Amino acid sequence: MKKTKYIFVVGGVLSGVGKGVTTASIGRILKNRGLNVSAIKIDPYINVDAGTMNPIEHGEVFVTDDGDETDQDIGNYERFLDTDINSINYMTTGRVYLSVIEKERSMYYKGKCVEVVPHIPMEVVQRIKTAAKESRSDVMIIEVGGTVGEYQNILFLEAARMMKLVSPEDVICVLVSYMPTPGHLGEMKTKPTQQAARELNSSGIQADFIVARGSQSLDKPRREKLALLCGLRYEEEIISAPDVPSIYQIPAVFEEQKFSDLLGKRLRLRYKNRKNPAWEKFIRNMKQTAKTVKIAVVGKYFGTGNYTLSDSYLSVIEATKHAAWSQGAKVELTWIDAEKFETDPAAVRELAGFSGLIVPGGFGTRGIEGIINAIKFAREHNLPYLGLCYGMQLATIEFARHVLGLQGAHTVEVDAETKHPIIHINPFQAKNIKDNKYGGTMRLGSYSCALLAGSKVAKLYKTDVVHERHRHRYEFNNDYKEDMEQAGMRFVGHNPETNLAEIIELKDHPFFVGSQFHPEFKSRPLHPHPLFIGLVKAALNKNKTTCKKPIILKLRVAA
Ligand code: GLN
Repeated sequence: MKKTKYIFVVGGVLSGVGKGVTTASIGRILKNRGLNVSAIKIDPYINVDAGTMNPIEHGEVFVTDDGDETDQDIGNYERFLDTDINSINYMTTGRVYLSVIEKERSMYYKGKCVEVVPHIPMEVVQRIKTAAKESRSDVMIIEVGGTVGEYQNILFLEAARMMKLVSPEDVICVLVSYMPTPGHLGEMKTKPTQQAARELNSSGIQADFIVARGSQSLDKPRREKLALLCGLRYEEEIISAPDVPSIYQIPAVFEEQKFSDLLGKRLRLRYKNRKNPAWEKFIRNMKQTAKTVKIAVVGKYFGTGNYTLSDSYLSVIEATKHAAWSQGAKVELTWIDAEKFETDPAAVRELAGFSGLIVPGGFGTRGIEGIINAIKFAREHNLPYLGLCYGMQLATIEFARHVLGLQGAHTVEVDAETKHPIIHINPFQAKNIKDNKYGGTMRLGSYSCALLAGSKVAKLYKTDVVHERHRHRYEFNNDYKEDMEQAGMRFVGHNPETNLAEIIELKDHPFFVGSQFHPEFKSRPLHPHPLFIGLVKAALNKNKTTCKKPIILKLRVAA
C-alpha cells in the first residue's frame, strides 16, 4: 500500500492571512505534478458544523456532496483541486469531542479513563488517516484553523506533533504568516513572524516551510533573516506570497519559487515533471478578458460591510467569475440590500443599469418584499435572472402573486397562515422545527434532478439527469404547478424519487431560471457551471441588444 504524506498548514500573527488559499494552492501545484491530493479543514470552534451559524459571523456555509455543512475553505479546496471533498475531511472541536464521548459511552475505550490528552489528539489523527485512506491520497494537506498561540487549536497542533514525531519523513508543517509593512516605517517587518515560529516551537513543532504573506514580495535580506531566526535550514524554504490580483494566480507565484520541487524533495515524493495545460489555459483566459458584464445581486445580509459580504457568498461570486471568464468576460458584481427595494419599490428601476440579476440563498423575513420587487422587475423587463434556492422559491411566489393574481401568496417560512402556500413544508421538517432540531436537519447534499427535454436548462447542461447540492427546509407546493405552467412558468427539473420541483424557467423570457439547489457549490474554474454560463451568456447578449434610448418604466407596487 502506498504511503500518504501529510502537510499541516498553520497560521501565524493574524487570522484571515490566507491559510485556506495557501492550502488549496499547495494542493494545486502538487496535483499539477500528477499526484492525488486531498485536503482537510479543522475548525477550532465547538459548533458541530457551520450550518447553524449566522453567515455574518462565519461566512459561507459550504455544502459537500455527502451533505455536510462545512467551512468555506472546503469550497476553495474543491475549486483549486477540482475534486469533491467529503464530510470526513472536515472537523471541528465539537465534532471531535462528540465522537470521543460517544465512543466512551459505548465502551470503545474498554473502561479506561478517557482524557483530553491523548484521546482527543488521537481521535484527530485517526480522522486524518481515515480521510487520507478514503480519498486514496498521495498527499493530504491539513489546514488547522485559528492562529498559533491560541488556546483553541492547541489539541490539533498536538495531533500534528504526534504525527510528525512518529514519521518525521512523511509529515511536515507549513507556517503561513503575516509580514506587516507599517505605514510610518514603510518597511516590511519580520518580528511578528519570528514570534509565530517560536509559538509553534512551544507546541513542539518546527516549521519546515514559511509562507510569508504581505502586500509586497519578500526581499533577500528578509528571507535570510527569517530562515535563520525561525530555525529553517535553507532560505529557499521561505516562500514569498505577496498580494496578487486573483487568488488563482497564487499557485504560479509558488511555482516561480519552485515550491513543489522543494516539497517533493523534503517529503521524498515521486512525481512527474509535467505541467497542467488545462489549468494554464484557465489562467490565460482569466487574464485576457475583453468584455465586462454587470450583474446585480439582491439579498439580505448585505448591510454589514464589504468584508463579511464577500465571505457570505463566496461560492456565488466565484461561480459567476468562472462562468464569465469562460465567455471571455470579467464580471462586475454590485450588491444591493433588498431592504432598499422594500421601503422604496420604485428604486428597482436602478436594475435597468445591469445586464443580469442574481438572488442568492437566504432564510427568514428580512428584505423579502424587496427581493420580490426585484424579481418582478427582472421578469417584466427581460433582465436575465438566476435565482438560487430562496431565489427560486421567491420567483414562484412573485409569479403566483402578479401573474396568477393570488394575493398574499407566500412561503410558510415567512407567513405560516398564508392562503396560498406556494412554498410549504413537509410534516417531517415541521417537526424538526417544533423540536428545535436545527443542526444538520435540512435537505442537504446531492440529489438527482431529471431535466425536461427541450428546456433551456437541458440545453445548457447537455444531459437529462444532473446531481446538485441542496440546503433548504421548505419546498415548492406542487398543488400550484398546473396553474403556474399554464401561465408560462415551466417546471423543467424534478427529483425522480420525490417529485419535488427543482428547477423553474420562464417561457417567454431570454433567461429566467431558478433552482431549488445551489449550483454555485459545484462550479469549478476548470468546469464552470452551466446555469451560471446561461446567465452570463444572456447578460452578454443583453449588452449587445440594449437600446440607447432611455427605458421608460411603468412601475407597479407589489401586492
Ligand atoms: N429558506 C429557504 C428554505 O429553507 C431557502 C434556503 C436557502 O436559500 N438555502 O427552504
